Amino acid sequence: MKCWHCGTELIWGGDHDLEDDETYIIVTNLSCPGCNSHVDVYYPRQEKKDEKRKRKKVRRKIKTN
Ligand SMILES: [Zn+2]
Repeated sequence: MKCWHCGTELIWGGDHDLEDDETYIIVTNLSCPGCNSHVDVYYPRQEKKDEKRKRKKVRRKIKTN
């Protein structure tokens, strides 16, 4: 992936899990050796809202039983 500003190939800094974020699951940090820009790429969770509700219901059932 190239830098938005100067076109230099970005250096991958690392992936971080976003456990508390409801919209995104991973943020990838990239930096540009050419102009020192910092780029964060947020990767969205794949599950739909309906699937989330189902999962929560199942968890509740397990707890009450
Ligand atoms: Zn750059």
